[in-house]
Amino acid sequence: MKRYSAFAIAKEAFRHQLGWERAWRSPEPKPEYEVIIVGAGGHGLATAYYLGKNHGITNIAILEKNWLGGGNTGRNTTIIRSNYLQDASAAIYEKARSLYETLSQDLNYNVMFSPRGVAMLAQTHHEVRGYRRTARANAIQGVETEFIGSEQVKALCPIINVDGPRFPVLGALWQPRGGTARHDAVAWGYARACSDMGMDIIQNCAVTAVRRTGGTVTGVETTRGAVGCRKLGIVVAGHSGVLAAMAGFRLPVESVALQALVSEPVKPCMDIVVMANTVHGYMSQSDKGELVIGGGADGFNNYTQRGSFHHVEETVRALVETFPIISRLRMLRQWAGIVDMTGDRSPILSKTPLENCFINCGWGTGGFKAIPGSGWAMAELMAKGEPGPLAAPFGLDRFREGRFIDESVAAGVAH
Ligand SMILES: Cc1cc2nc3c(=O)[nH]c(=O)nc-3n(C[C@H](O)[C@H](O)[C@H](O)COP(=O)(O)OP(=O)(O)OC[C@H]3O[C@@H](n4cnc5c(N)ncnc54)[C@H](O)[C@@H]3O)c2cc1C
Repeated sequence: MKRYSAFAIAKEAFRHQLGWERAWRSPEPKPEYEVIIVGAGGHGLATAYYLGKNHGITNIAILEKNWLGGGNTGRNTTIIRSNYLQDASAAIYEKARSLYETLSQDLNYNVMFSPRGVAMLAQTHHEVRGYRRTARANAIQGVETEFIGSEQVKALCPIINVDGPRFPVLGALWQPRGGTARHDAVAWGYARACSDMGMDIIQNCAVTAVRRTGGTVTGVETTRGAVGCRKLGIVVAGHSGVLAAMAGFRLPVESVALQALVSEPVKPCMDIVVMANTVHGYMSQSDKGELVIGGGADGFNNYTQRGSFHHVEETVRALVETFPIISRLRMLRQWAGIVDMTGDRSPILSKTPLENCFINCGWGTGGFKAIPGSGWAMAELMAKGEPGPLAAPFGLDRFREGRFIDESVAAGVAH
Protein backbone atom coordinates (compact mmCIF):
# COMPACT_ATOMS: atom_id res chain seq x y z
CA MET A 1 0.00 0.00 0.00
CA LYS A 2 1.21 3.48 -0.84
CA ARG A 3 2.72 5.25 2.19
CA TYR A 4 1.16 8.48 3.40
CA SER A 5 3.85 11.15 3.67
CA ALA A 6 4.51 14.83 3.01
CA PHE A 7 6.25 13.76 -0.20
CA ALA A 8 3.16 11.75 -1.32
CA ILE A 9 0.87 14.75 -0.65
CA ALA A 10 3.16 17.04 -2.66
CA LYS A 11 3.34 14.51 -5.51
CA GLU A 12 -0.44 14.11 -5.64
CA ALA A 13 -0.91 17.88 -5.64
CA PHE A 14 0.80 17.90 -9.04
CA ARG A 15 -1.44 15.22 -10.54
CA HIS A 16 -4.91 16.25 -9.40
CA GLN A 17 -4.99 13.77 -6.48
CA LEU A 18 -5.59 10.90 -8.91
CA GLY A 19 -2.94 8.56 -7.49
CA TRP A 20 -4.50 7.75 -4.13
CA GLU A 21 -5.64 4.15 -3.62
CA ARG A 22 -8.68 3.09 -1.62
CA ALA A 23 -7.67 2.80 2.03
CA TRP A 24 -8.88 -0.82 2.23
CA ARG A 25 -10.14 -3.43 -0.22
CA SER A 26 -13.77 -4.66 -0.24
CA PRO A 27 -13.44 -8.33 -1.23
CA GLU A 28 -16.08 -11.05 -1.46
CA PRO A 29 -15.88 -13.55 1.43
CA LYS A 30 -13.81 -16.70 0.73
CA PRO A 31 -15.19 -20.11 1.75
CA GLU A 32 -12.64 -20.52 4.58
CA TYR A 33 -10.15 -18.58 6.72
CA GLU A 34 -7.78 -19.49 9.50
CA VAL A 35 -9.32 -16.84 11.74
CA ILE A 36 -12.64 -14.99 11.64
CA ILE A 37 -13.16 -11.92 13.76
CA VAL A 38 -16.80 -10.85 14.15
CA GLY A 39 -17.08 -7.07 14.53
CA ALA A 40 -15.03 -4.40 12.74
CA GLY A 41 -14.93 -1.96 15.64
CA GLY A 42 -11.63 -0.81 17.09
CA HIS A 43 -11.17 -3.92 19.22
CA GLY A 44 -11.88 -6.38 16.39
CA LEU A 45 -9.65 -4.56 13.92
CA ALA A 46 -6.83 -4.16 16.47
CA THR A 47 -7.06 -7.88 17.28
CA ALA A 48 -6.64 -8.72 13.59
CA TYR A 49 -3.81 -6.21 13.20
CA TYR A 50 -1.74 -7.61 16.10
CA LEU A 51 -2.48 -11.21 14.99
CA GLY A 52 -0.72 -10.24 11.76
CA LYS A 53 1.96 -7.99 13.17
CA ASN A 54 2.93 -9.91 16.33
CA HIS A 55 2.07 -13.50 15.39
CA GLY A 56 2.32 -13.67 11.58
CA ILE A 57 -1.31 -14.79 11.11
CA THR A 58 -2.85 -12.97 8.13
CA ASN A 59 -5.38 -15.45 6.71
CA ILE A 60 -8.12 -13.52 8.49
CA ALA A 61 -11.61 -12.22 7.70
CA ILE A 62 -13.16 -9.45 9.76
CA LEU A 63 -16.94 -9.62 9.34
CA GLU A 64 -18.99 -6.50 10.04
CA LYS A 65 -22.77 -6.28 9.86
CA ASN A 66 -22.84 -2.55 9.08
CA TRP A 67 -19.90 -0.30 8.18
CA LEU A 68 -16.53 -0.55 9.91
CA GLY A 69 -16.17 1.74 12.92
CA GLY A 70 -19.93 2.41 12.94
CA GLY A 71 -20.51 0.91 16.39
CA ASN A 72 -19.27 2.36 19.67
CA THR A 73 -15.85 3.02 18.16
CA GLY A 74 -17.32 5.81 16.04
CA ARG A 75 -19.71 7.03 18.75
CA ASN A 76 -17.55 7.60 21.80
CA THR A 77 -16.20 10.76 23.37
CA THR A 78 -12.57 9.65 22.72
CA ILE A 79 -11.11 9.96 26.22
CA ILE A 80 -7.86 8.08 26.73
CA ARG A 81 -6.47 7.51 30.23
CA SER A 82 -5.05 4.67 32.30
CA ASN A 83 -5.52 5.93 35.88
CA TYR A 84 -7.33 2.79 37.13
CA LEU A 85 -7.04 1.44 40.65
CA GLN A 86 -6.54 -2.31 40.21
CA ASP A 87 -3.19 -3.62 38.93
CA ALA A 88 -4.74 -5.75 36.16
CA SER A 89 -6.67 -2.77 34.78
CA ALA A 90 -3.77 -0.31 35.03
CA ALA A 91 -1.57 -2.80 33.15
CA ILE A 92 -3.84 -3.23 30.11
CA TYR A 93 -5.02 0.41 29.93
CA GLU A 94 -1.44 1.72 30.29
CA LYS A 95 -0.25 -0.70 27.60
CA ALA A 96 -2.99 0.76 25.37
CA ARG A 97 -2.16 4.35 26.25
CA SER A 98 1.53 3.81 25.56
CA LEU A 99 0.71 2.20 22.17
CA TYR A 100 -1.45 5.26 21.36
CA GLU A 101 1.66 7.46 21.77
CA THR A 102 3.15 6.03 18.55
CA LEU A 103 0.06 4.59 16.85
CA SER A 104 0.04 7.16 14.02
CA GLN A 105 3.61 6.23 13.08
CA ASP A 106 2.97 2.51 13.56
CA LEU A 107 -0.11 2.52 11.29
CA ASN A 108 1.16 5.29 8.96
CA TYR A 109 -2.22 6.93 9.61
CA ASN A 110 -2.83 10.07 11.64
CA VAL A 111 -5.08 9.04 14.55
CA MET A 112 -4.67 12.54 16.02
CA PHE A 113 -3.59 11.33 19.46
CA SER A 114 -3.64 14.43 21.62
CA PRO A 115 -2.12 13.85 25.08
CA ARG A 116 -3.56 17.10 26.41
CA GLY A 117 -4.07 15.78 29.96
CA VAL A 118 -7.12 14.43 31.80
CA ALA A 119 -8.36 15.83 35.12
CA MET A 120 -10.86 13.81 37.15
CA LEU A 121 -12.38 16.32 39.54
CA ALA A 122 -12.73 15.54 43.24
CA GLN A 123 -15.91 17.33 44.37
CA THR A 124 -16.49 15.50 47.65
CA HIS A 125 -14.12 14.54 50.46
CA HIS A 126 -14.81 10.94 49.63
CA GLU A 127 -13.48 11.52 46.11
CA VAL A 128 -10.40 13.31 47.47
CA ARG A 129 -9.55 10.23 49.53
CA GLY A 130 -10.32 7.89 46.62
CA TYR A 131 -8.22 9.78 44.07
CA ARG A 132 -5.27 10.19 46.48
CA ARG A 133 -5.39 6.43 46.87
CA THR A 134 -5.51 5.91 43.09
CA ALA A 135 -2.55 8.28 42.61
CA ARG A 136 -0.50 6.19 45.06
CA ALA A 137 -1.56 2.93 43.39
CA ASN A 138 -0.66 4.43 39.98
CA ALA A 139 2.82 5.41 41.27
CA ILE A 140 3.46 1.75 42.14
CA GLN A 141 1.99 0.57 38.82
CA GLY A 142 4.21 2.93 36.80
CA VAL A 143 1.28 5.07 35.59
CA GLU A 144 2.10 8.78 35.68
CA THR A 145 -0.63 10.58 37.68
CA GLU A 146 -0.76 13.00 40.61
CA PHE A 147 -3.36 14.51 42.90
CA ILE A 148 -3.48 18.28 42.33
CA GLY A 149 -5.19 21.07 44.31
CA SER A 150 -8.07 23.27 43.18
CA GLU A 151 -5.77 26.25 42.31
CA GLN A 152 -3.90 24.03 39.88
CA VAL A 153 -7.21 22.83 38.39
CA LYS A 154 -8.26 26.45 37.86
CA ALA A 155 -4.89 27.24 36.26
CA LEU A 156 -5.21 24.27 33.88
CA CYS A 157 -8.83 25.01 32.97
CA PRO A 158 -9.85 28.62 33.66
CA ILE A 159 -13.50 28.12 32.63
CA ILE A 160 -14.11 25.87 35.66
CA ASN A 161 -15.92 27.40 38.61
CA VAL A 162 -14.06 25.84 41.55
CA ASP A 163 -16.22 27.57 44.21
CA GLY A 164 -19.54 25.98 43.31
CA PRO A 165 -21.91 26.17 46.27
CA ARG A 166 -23.03 22.57 45.97
CA PHE A 167 -20.02 20.77 44.51
CA PRO A 168 -16.84 22.86 44.97
CA VAL A 169 -13.75 21.52 43.23
CA LEU A 170 -11.45 20.23 45.98
CA GLY A 171 -8.74 18.92 43.66
CA ALA A 172 -8.31 16.42 40.85
CA LEU A 173 -6.55 13.25 39.79
CA TRP A 174 -4.38 14.55 36.94
CA GLN A 175 -2.92 12.35 34.21
CA PRO A 176 -0.75 14.62 32.05
CA ARG A 177 -0.29 12.09 29.21
CA GLY A 178 -3.97 11.14 29.02
CA GLY A 179 -6.05 12.85 26.33
CA THR A 180 -8.02 12.09 23.20
CA ALA A 181 -7.65 10.65 19.68
CA ARG A 182 -9.86 10.81 16.60
CA HIS A 183 -12.11 7.78 17.09
CA ASP A 184 -12.91 6.82 13.51
CA ALA A 185 -9.33 7.40 12.41
CA VAL A 186 -8.33 4.68 14.87
CA ALA A 187 -10.70 2.25 13.14
CA TRP A 188 -9.69 3.44 9.66
CA GLY A 189 -5.96 3.25 10.44
CA TYR A 190 -6.20 -0.32 11.73
CA ALA A 191 -8.47 -1.29 8.80
CA ARG A 192 -6.02 0.05 6.23
CA ALA A 193 -3.10 -1.75 7.87
CA CYS A 194 -5.08 -5.04 8.08
CA SER A 195 -6.11 -4.80 4.44
CA ASP A 196 -2.49 -4.09 3.52
CA MET A 197 -1.45 -7.34 5.24
CA GLY A 198 -3.91 -9.24 3.00
CA MET A 199 -6.75 -9.61 5.49
CA ASP A 200 -10.34 -9.37 4.19
CA ILE A 201 -12.62 -6.79 5.80
CA ILE A 202 -16.16 -7.65 4.76
CA GLN A 203 -18.77 -5.01 5.54
CA ASN A 204 -22.55 -5.42 5.31
CA CYS A 205 -22.05 -9.02 6.39
CA ALA A 206 -23.95 -9.93 9.57
CA VAL A 207 -23.14 -13.16 11.36
CA THR A 208 -26.41 -15.00 11.91
CA ALA A 209 -25.26 -18.35 13.37
CA VAL A 210 -22.14 -20.05 14.69
CA ARG A 211 -21.37 -23.46 13.16
CA ARG A 212 -19.86 -26.13 15.38
CA THR A 213 -19.03 -29.81 15.33
CA GLY A 214 -19.30 -31.31 18.77
CA GLY A 215 -17.84 -28.67 21.05
CA THR A 216 -15.56 -27.06 18.45
CA VAL A 217 -16.26 -24.06 16.26
CA THR A 218 -16.05 -24.65 12.49
CA GLY A 219 -17.32 -21.38 11.04
CA VAL A 220 -20.24 -18.98 10.82
CA GLU A 221 -23.40 -18.41 8.79
CA THR A 222 -23.70 -14.89 7.49
CA THR A 223 -26.05 -12.80 5.38
CA ARG A 224 -23.51 -13.38 2.57
CA GLY A 225 -23.24 -17.16 2.98
CA ALA A 226 -21.38 -19.65 5.15
CA VAL A 227 -17.72 -19.05 5.96
CA GLY A 228 -15.48 -21.64 7.62
CA CYS A 229 -12.69 -20.98 10.12
CA ARG A 230 -10.32 -22.71 12.52
CA LYS A 231 -10.57 -19.97 15.17
CA LEU A 232 -13.34 -17.48 15.90
CA GLY A 233 -13.03 -14.18 17.78
CA ILE A 234 -16.27 -12.51 18.91
CA VAL A 235 -15.66 -8.77 19.36
CA VAL A 236 -19.07 -7.11 19.09
CA ALA A 237 -19.43 -4.95 22.25
CA GLY A 238 -23.16 -4.40 22.93
CA HIS A 239 -24.15 -7.41 20.84
CA SER A 240 -21.90 -9.87 22.68
CA GLY A 241 -24.86 -11.56 24.39
CA VAL A 242 -26.52 -12.12 20.99
CA LEU A 243 -23.38 -13.72 19.51
CA ALA A 244 -22.76 -15.79 22.65
CA ALA A 245 -26.31 -17.16 22.35
CA MET A 246 -25.52 -18.18 18.75
CA ALA A 247 -22.41 -19.99 20.03
CA GLY A 248 -24.42 -21.73 22.74
CA PHE A 249 -23.30 -20.02 25.95
CA ARG A 250 -24.40 -17.11 28.17
CA LEU A 251 -22.42 -14.07 29.27
CA PRO A 252 -22.63 -12.02 32.50
CA VAL A 253 -23.14 -8.86 30.41
CA GLU A 254 -25.96 -6.32 30.10
CA SER A 255 -26.47 -4.09 27.06
CA VAL A 256 -27.55 -0.48 27.52
CA ALA A 257 -27.46 2.69 25.44
CA LEU A 258 -24.83 5.22 26.54
CA GLN A 259 -25.41 8.77 25.38
CA ALA A 260 -23.31 11.80 24.46
CA LEU A 261 -23.82 15.21 22.90
CA VAL A 262 -21.90 18.13 21.41
CA SER A 263 -22.52 21.86 21.60
CA GLU A 264 -22.35 24.37 18.81
CA PRO A 265 -18.71 25.21 17.96
CA VAL A 266 -17.07 27.99 19.97
CA LYS A 267 -13.60 29.54 20.10
CA PRO A 268 -10.94 27.52 21.95
CA CYS A 269 -11.79 27.65 25.66
CA MET A 270 -10.47 24.43 27.21
CA ASP A 271 -7.42 22.45 26.20
CA ILE A 272 -7.65 19.55 28.65
CA VAL A 273 -10.24 16.84 29.29
CA VAL A 274 -12.27 17.29 32.48
CA MET A 275 -14.37 14.60 34.10
CA ALA A 276 -16.77 15.38 36.94
CA ASN A 277 -17.85 12.01 38.21
CA THR A 278 -19.83 13.12 41.27
CA VAL A 279 -22.31 15.08 39.17
CA HIS A 280 -21.71 12.70 36.27
CA GLY A 281 -20.65 14.56 33.20
CA TYR A 282 -17.42 15.26 31.41
CA MET A 283 -16.22 17.60 28.74
CA SER A 284 -13.47 18.32 26.23
CA GLN A 285 -13.26 20.57 23.19
CA SER A 286 -12.96 19.09 19.71
CA ASP A 287 -10.72 20.53 17.00
CA LYS A 288 -13.89 21.92 15.38
CA GLY A 289 -14.64 23.88 18.57
CA GLU A 290 -17.63 21.84 19.76
CA LEU A 291 -17.73 20.96 23.44
CA VAL A 292 -17.93 17.18 23.54
CA ILE A 293 -20.08 16.22 26.51
CA GLY A 294 -20.53 12.72 27.86
CA GLY A 295 -23.52 11.74 29.90
CA GLY A 296 -25.03 8.68 31.43
CA ALA A 297 -26.26 5.31 30.36
CA ASP A 298 -29.95 4.50 30.07
CA GLY A 299 -31.36 2.92 33.21
CA PHE A 300 -32.77 -0.07 31.35
CA ASN A 301 -31.42 -2.65 28.92
CA ASN A 302 -31.95 -1.80 25.25
CA TYR A 303 -30.42 -1.84 21.77
CA THR A 304 -31.55 1.63 20.67
CA GLN A 305 -28.62 3.57 19.25
CA ARG A 306 -30.34 6.95 19.70
CA GLY A 307 -30.15 9.86 22.10
CA SER A 308 -33.10 11.02 24.20
CA PHE A 309 -33.99 14.59 25.22
CA HIS A 310 -34.03 14.05 28.97
CA HIS A 311 -30.34 13.04 28.87
CA VAL A 312 -29.40 16.39 27.35
CA GLU A 313 -31.20 18.19 30.16
CA GLU A 314 -29.84 15.94 32.93
CA THR A 315 -26.24 16.07 31.73
CA VAL A 316 -26.16 19.81 31.15
CA ARG A 317 -27.89 20.44 34.49
CA ALA A 318 -25.22 18.31 36.20
CA LEU A 319 -22.34 20.22 34.63
CA VAL A 320 -23.61 23.80 34.69
CA GLU A 321 -22.48 24.63 38.23
CA THR A 322 -18.91 23.57 37.43
CA PHE A 323 -18.96 24.96 33.87
CA PRO A 324 -21.27 28.05 33.93
CA ILE A 325 -20.22 28.75 30.31
CA ILE A 326 -22.46 25.96 29.03
CA SER A 327 -25.67 27.63 30.25
CA ARG A 328 -25.57 29.90 27.16
CA LEU A 329 -24.56 27.25 24.61
CA ARG A 330 -26.88 25.56 22.18
CA MET A 331 -26.57 21.81 21.91
CA LEU A 332 -26.01 20.62 18.36
CA ARG A 333 -26.21 16.82 18.22
CA GLN A 334 -26.76 13.83 20.47
CA TRP A 335 -26.41 10.10 19.91
CA ALA A 336 -25.93 6.77 21.68
CA GLY A 337 -24.03 3.51 21.41
CA ILE A 338 -24.83 0.11 22.89
CA VAL A 339 -22.33 -0.65 25.62
CA ASP A 340 -21.65 -4.02 27.22
CA MET A 341 -21.58 -3.77 31.00
CA THR A 342 -20.19 -6.47 33.30
CA GLY A 343 -20.93 -6.62 37.02
CA ASP A 344 -17.41 -5.57 38.08
CA ARG A 345 -17.13 -3.02 35.23
CA SER A 346 -14.04 -4.80 33.87
CA PRO A 347 -13.69 -6.40 30.44
CA ILE A 348 -13.75 -10.04 29.38
CA LEU A 349 -10.88 -11.40 27.25
CA SER A 350 -11.38 -15.09 27.37
CA LYS A 351 -11.64 -18.58 26.01
CA THR A 352 -15.26 -19.74 25.91
CA PRO A 353 -17.03 -23.06 26.51
CA LEU A 354 -16.79 -23.59 22.72
CA GLU A 355 -13.34 -24.85 21.63
CA ASN A 356 -11.36 -22.36 19.46
CA CYS A 357 -13.94 -19.64 20.10
CA PHE A 358 -12.69 -16.56 21.98
CA ILE A 359 -14.50 -13.48 23.24
CA ASN A 360 -13.47 -9.88 23.86
CA CYS A 361 -16.20 -7.71 25.41
CA GLY A 362 -17.36 -5.98 28.57
CA TRP A 363 -15.47 -2.73 27.90
CA GLY A 364 -18.71 -0.95 28.72
CA THR A 365 -18.49 2.81 28.88
CA GLY A 366 -14.70 2.99 28.57
CA GLY A 367 -13.16 0.78 25.92
CA PHE A 368 -12.01 3.29 23.31
CA LYS A 369 -8.92 4.04 25.37
CA ALA A 370 -8.16 0.31 25.54
CA ILE A 371 -8.26 -0.52 21.83
CA PRO A 372 -4.52 -1.05 21.14
CA GLY A 373 -3.87 -2.91 24.41
CA SER A 374 -7.00 -5.03 24.05
CA GLY A 375 -6.11 -5.96 20.46
CA TRP A 376 -2.57 -6.82 21.54
CA ALA A 377 -3.78 -9.08 24.39
CA MET A 378 -6.63 -10.68 22.39
CA ALA A 379 -4.26 -11.48 19.50
CA GLU A 380 -1.92 -13.26 21.91
CA LEU A 381 -4.86 -15.21 23.39
CA MET A 382 -6.11 -16.28 19.95
CA ALA A 383 -2.69 -17.10 18.50
CA LYS A 384 -1.49 -19.18 21.46
CA GLY A 385 -4.85 -20.47 22.69
CA GLU A 386 -3.93 -19.29 26.19
CA PRO A 387 -3.98 -15.77 27.64
CA GLY A 388 -0.76 -13.82 28.16
CA PRO A 389 -0.16 -11.71 31.27
CA LEU A 390 -2.35 -8.78 30.09
CA ALA A 391 -5.45 -10.91 29.39
CA ALA A 392 -5.07 -13.59 32.08
CA PRO A 393 -6.95 -11.75 34.88
CA PHE A 394 -9.93 -11.02 32.59
CA GLY A 395 -11.14 -14.59 31.96
CA LEU A 396 -14.80 -15.60 32.20
CA ASP A 397 -13.87 -17.93 35.08
CA ARG A 398 -13.58 -14.94 37.41
CA PHE A 399 -17.38 -14.66 37.59
CA ARG A 400 -17.69 -18.28 38.65
CA GLU A 401 -14.86 -17.95 41.18
CA GLY A 402 -15.95 -14.57 42.58
CA ARG A 403 -12.53 -13.10 41.64
CA PHE A 404 -13.88 -9.72 40.53
CA ILE A 405 -11.72 -6.84 39.31
CA ASP A 406 -13.82 -4.08 40.78
CA GLU A 407 -13.56 -0.88 38.75
CA SER A 408 -17.05 0.39 39.47
CA VAL A 409 -15.59 3.73 40.61
CA ALA A 410 -13.07 4.15 37.77
CA ALA A 411 -15.21 2.71 34.98
CA GLY A 412 -18.83 2.50 36.07
CA VAL A 413 -19.71 6.12 35.51
CA ALA A 414 -16.54 7.47 33.95
CA HIS A 415 -15.12 6.85 30.49
C1 LIG B 1 -21.56 7.67 23.95
C2 LIG B 1 -20.33 6.87 24.26
C3 LIG B 1 -19.23 7.49 24.83
C4 LIG B 1 -18.08 6.76 25.13
N1 LIG B 1 -16.98 7.45 25.58
C5 LIG B 1 -15.81 6.78 25.76
C6 LIG B 1 -14.63 7.50 26.10
O1 LIG B 1 -14.63 8.73 26.21
N2 LIG B 1 -13.48 6.79 26.28
C7 LIG B 1 -13.44 5.44 26.16
O2 LIG B 1 -12.39 4.86 26.39
N3 LIG B 1 -14.55 4.73 25.79
C8 LIG B 1 -15.72 5.36 25.59
N4 LIG B 1 -16.85 4.68 25.20
C9 LIG B 1 -16.79 3.21 25.07
C10 LIG B 1 -16.15 2.76 23.78
O3 LIG B 1 -16.74 3.45 22.70
C11 LIG B 1 -16.34 1.26 23.56
O4 LIG B 1 -15.94 0.53 24.71
C12 LIG B 1 -15.50 0.75 22.40
O5 LIG B 1 -15.62 1.60 21.28
C13 LIG B 1 -15.92 -0.64 22.02
O6 LIG B 1 -15.29 -0.98 20.81
P1 LIG B 1 -15.62 -2.36 20.12
O7 LIG B 1 -14.71 -2.49 18.96
O8 LIG B 1 -15.58 -3.43 21.15
O9 LIG B 1 -17.14 -2.21 19.73
P2 LIG B 1 -17.87 -1.52 18.47
O10 LIG B 1 -17.12 -0.35 17.98
O11 LIG B 1 -19.29 -1.31 18.88
O12 LIG B 1 -17.76 -2.64 17.36
C14 LIG B 1 -18.52 -3.83 17.39
C15 LIG B 1 -18.97 -4.08 15.97
O13 LIG B 1 -19.61 -5.36 15.91
C16 LIG B 1 -20.60 -5.29 14.91
N5 LIG B 1 -21.54 -6.39 15.05
C17 LIG B 1 -22.48 -6.58 16.01
N6 LIG B 1 -23.18 -7.72 15.78
C18 LIG B 1 -22.67 -8.26 14.64
C19 LIG B 1 -22.98 -9.41 13.88
N7 LIG B 1 -23.97 -10.26 14.22
N8 LIG B 1 -22.26 -9.67 12.75
C20 LIG B 1 -21.25 -8.85 12.36
N9 LIG B 1 -20.92 -7.71 13.06
C21 LIG B 1 -21.62 -7.43 14.18
C22 LIG B 1 -21.23 -3.91 15.12
O14 LIG B 1 -21.91 -3.46 13.97
C23 LIG B 1 -20.00 -3.07 15.48
O15 LIG B 1 -19.47 -2.37 14.36
C24 LIG B 1 -18.03 5.36 24.90
C25 LIG B 1 -19.12 4.73 24.33
C26 LIG B 1 -20.27 5.47 24.00
C27 LIG B 1 -21.43 4.76 23.36
